[in-house]
Amino acid sequence: MLEIDQEFMKFALAEAQKAYAMGEVPIGAVLVFQNQIISSAYNQVESLKDATAHAEMLCLKKAAEKLDNWRLIDCTLYCTLEPCLMCAGAMILSRVKTLVWAAPDLRHGAGGSLMNVFSLDHPIHQLEVRHGVFENESASLLKKFFKERRSNG
Ligand SMILES: [Zn+2]
Repeated sequence: MLEIDQEFMKFALAEAQKAYAMGEVPIGAVLVFQNQIISSAYNQVESLKDATAHAEMLCLKKAAEKLDNWRLIDCTLYCTLEPCLMCAGAMILSRVKTLVWAAPDLRHGAGGSLMNVFSLDHPIHQLEVRHGVFENESASLLKKFFKERRSNG
């Protein structure tokens, strides 16, 4: 596990905590360029009433605005959960260089759980992927969220 991955994943986890506090499924993301966080976001599907308002999507959009470029070349995206098919596609389209995710998403994960989009021989762009960084921290926050929601439901 790379030290730098742990350092930045902490910020993604802090974003997931923000989602948790808002009653959203606790997932967070940060995008890093030249060792600096360019954008950060958390899941806002409920508050925006938008099934596509995943942390990764919001993070990529913010980063493109900030860099004034949709090509996020040489950027690393840190996500607390394995990305879904939509987000994995958006990462390829955005030319994100590296993806680091924490916990697997057995239902929607496009990084090896449900399928592995990143292992396909893409004609335009291939991401470097690392995973498992703070997996337990991310997974236990998600577990806590769903457990509480069940008992409140
Ligand atoms: Zn997604």
